[in-house]
Amino acid sequence: MHVPGGRLEALLEAVVDPIVLIDTRGLITRFSRSAQAVFGYTEAEVQGRNVSMLMPAPYREQHDAYLARYLSTAEPHIIGIGREVTAQRKDGSTFPIDLSVGEFRSDSEHGFVGILRDISRRKQQEAELRASTEELRLIFESSPSAVAITDVEGSVLDANRACETLLGYATDELRGVRHRDLIVDEDREAVDAEFLALWATGERFSRDVRYRTRDGRALYALLQVGVARDVQGRPLLMICEIVDRSQVYEAMQEAEELRTRLAHVARIGTLGEMVSGIAHEVNQPLTAIANYANAARRLALAGGIGPQELAAIHDKIAAQAERAGQVIRGLRNMIRRSESARQPLDCRTLIGEVTKLIEFELRARGWKLLLAVQPSLPPISGDGVQIQQVLLNLIRNAMEAMNEKASGDTITVTASAPEAAWVEISVSDCGPGLAEASEERLFEPFFSTKAQGMGLGLSICKSIMSVHGGTLKYRRNLRGGAEFIMRLPALEQ
Ligand code: ADP
Repeated sequence: MHVPGGRLEALLEAVVDPIVLIDTRGLITRFSRSAQAVFGYTEAEVQGRNVSMLMPAPYREQHDAYLARYLSTAEPHIIGIGREVTAQRKDGSTFPIDLSVGEFRSDSEHGFVGILRDISRRKQQEAELRASTEELRLIFESSPSAVAITDVEGSVLDANRACETLLGYATDELRGVRHRDLIVDEDREAVDAEFLALWATGERFSRDVRYRTRDGRALYALLQVGVARDVQGRPLLMICEIVDRSQVYEAMQEAEELRTRLAHVARIGTLGEMVSGIAHEVNQPLTAIANYANAARRLALAGGIGPQELAAIHDKIAAQAERAGQVIRGLRNMIRRSESARQPLDCRTLIGEVTKLIEFELRARGWKLLLAVQPSLPPISGDGVQIQQVLLNLIRNAMEAMNEKASGDTITVTASAPEAAWVEISVSDCGPGLAEASEERLFEPFFSTKAQGMGLGLSICKSIMSVHGGTLKYRRNLRGGAEFIMRLPALEQ
């Protein structure tokens, strides 16, 4: 490198990056204005001194040996190459620089030129990036949600601690495993389809999935997957969040079991009522049969009975046995199919029988039951016991509501046929009625506002009504209380 004197001066004045010229002994010959600004030395202060003064220990000590080695072997370490080193200012502070060194030779001079670039800022940015990467890593690792990252083919690249805990695999075991292979056989294809759609155009999906844990258990989870794409929209990574749902699933199963058990109990309850009714029905003809048989025996022993009379008594015994048989057949039919238990029913009788059951309770509370049954109602068809159960349940609910808070003392039961083909039976009370929010959920199984309530009454009532081709509805009555309306198809005459 050869720069004529005048131009070199101008260059050393103007150059932005600090420039330092040294001779072959390492002594500073020139020091650019920018170098002076950066290091805090004037040119006069550094001129003729060893360039190692611009370096902190231990480079300072090594520099002379390095320069000597280069001059004797021409083996470059920095010269002609450049590298990152540390420089030291006049005030002792140090800073990182990118140093490139070139050798120059002219007739009068042989030396080296060093061009320095302060890279503190770049270094700081790098450090910040490292710190934020580490921070992200820390967040990923200690996130309470289980997260696995896969490539676009679905092979696991990384998984966090929560994921390890949930699935029982160490992250190292998970790496490289296909995500789909962690899922139980039955759910795998559905998940494949979701991934395919996501890969093509989607942004995220979420679905219930069962994972196979390391110890072989099926884990019920909600899988939520998002896709990270590059600027061109190509998928780069899949981010899979696995939310443990085993507790929710267990609770659902428990509820399902409870529901089945309760449905069974309800059936047994109806059966119990039926059996005691049947026992009563069968008992009568059996008693009659026993009485006739005893009477015939007595008369026969006394010798005062002719064949005609004996035959008449036997006819009566046969008739009673036939009646008992009918009852038993009825029971069999009822159990076989609820359809066969259907028979024409008179609403007035149905209502009358139910009100008899609750008369006592009503009187004890000082409440009245107002009956308004339209004369000449068409008969309905169905299982009388079940329809009476519905009615009884509605009246009991009314009494419970009025127990809580009552604006009057009357429960009104009406029966009418607003249209020829339908009969309506309604139960209306003076209780507080229903909060608007409860109205929608009223007929849901297990919905109850009572401390001891099972919340099954109305849902069973509704299903009984629908089995009969009818409906059960709620509305608020004029007194602010509740009114439940049973609507049943009239029997075609
Ligand atoms: P449970 O009586 O076990 O609570 P139900 O199915 O019979 O179950 O009723 C569900 C809920 O509907 C009750 O908890 C109550 O909040 C409401 N409800 C039912 N009948 C009435 C009524 N007559 N007045 C006010 N609320 C009622």
